[in-house]
Amino acid sequence: MSAPVFLPPSDIGILGGGQLGRMLALEARRSGYKVAIFTDEKPGCPAGQWADAEFNAAYDDTDMLDRFLSRVDVVTAEFENIPDACLAHVEKQRPLRPGRRAIHTTQHREREKLFLREQGIACAEFRIVTSLEEFEAAVAALGRPCVIKTAAFGYDGKGQKKIEAGTDLAAVWADFAGAHAVVEQWVPFVCEISVVGARSVNGRMAVHGVVENMHEHHILDLSIAPARVDAAIAEQALGLWEAVAEGLDYVGTMAVEMFVTQAGGVLVNEIAPRPHNSGHLTIDACITNQFQQQMRAVCGLDLGDPSLHTPSVMINLLGDLWPAETTPPDWTPVLCHPRAKLHLYGKAEARARRKMGHINVLGETLEEALESALQIKQALAPSAQG
Ligand code: AMP
Repeated sequence: MSAPVFLPPSDIGILGGGQLGRMLALEARRSGYKVAIFTDEKPGCPAGQWADAEFNAAYDDTDMLDRFLSRVDVVTAEFENIPDACLAHVEKQRPLRPGRRAIHTTQHREREKLFLREQGIACAEFRIVTSLEEFEAAVAALGRPCVIKTAAFGYDGKGQKKIEAGTDLAAVWADFAGAHAVVEQWVPFVCEISVVGARSVNGRMAVHGVVENMHEHHILDLSIAPARVDAAIAEQALGLWEAVAEGLDYVGTMAVEMFVTQAGGVLVNEIAPRPHNSGHLTIDACITNQFQQQMRAVCGLDLGDPSLHTPSVMINLLGDLWPAETTPPDWTPVLCHPRAKLHLYGKAEARARRKMGHINVLGETLEEALESALQIKQALAPSAQG
């Protein structure tokens, strides 16, 4: 039996209320779909602001989940940290794309790493540890520097610590005790890249190419497309993305973050079972953006052309740029720029390190896009705003 196809005005259900759900809702509603959000955030969350309906409850509130499920035709997720029991409940009643296994595997570093190992997909050498003794043995085996990361609910560098020559392991373990953790060899990378793409219900894949990422304090700062890597690196990266997508029998938009090593290799760092921050530039720079692809894949349709039509740089906007919690910066340098696009996520209060929006800057050439992006970044810096 072929998988069901959902056409407008079908109702797409989204688990999660953040900016990724918001941008999917915008894309889907533009094409005539209805959108319902289920989130444990308060009403009026970023995704809820653009949804036809918003259900606000804990992920284990099965009564509310049933109400949500009774109005939607198909369900997807905009973040991965959704309890498995919730995914199981959803899956019994509606098609869930990506499926429970893909989300369950990638929401937890230990399961993710074991999946990569099992599939023979290149990643940094690692050990799973559950006690101080195992942690000490892992550090001895992997060498210093290395990094310890919590297995569950880690992102943007949260729940991780670099182990240097003089680091006291017992003191570090105090923060990780009681949980599973992953200890990873330190990768002295040349650069960080990601591949964002989508896989359809019938197994066709379409990727947006390789994006180069620059982080500040472990949070994405700039994304650059196309990445300044040679063809052999790009080919490896695209191959890794495809291996992950096939291995997870993935349906939807997925991002794989990777390290480019000094030896000219590529290692998988993390898998995101959803659209990704480094794919936001696809909204303005690609023929079909990552949210349109997610909508198509989730609804059982063929994917669009993912090609990048214009070199582009994305600047992340964190709450640190806001002069006060509810006072945004002066956006004139962005809004008056002929090739910059402002995307804000509708978050009322700015906090340090909180993702508030992004800017996509286009250029005739990548150099031009980068130069404009750096000028805009400088003009928005608190010191320039006076
Ligand atoms: P993660 O939360 O695992 O994506 O890590 C956040 C950032 O920490 C990455 O984007 C890297 O810049 C850095 N990082 C994480 N793991 C490693 C590693 N094994 N070697 C070098 N840098 C790392």
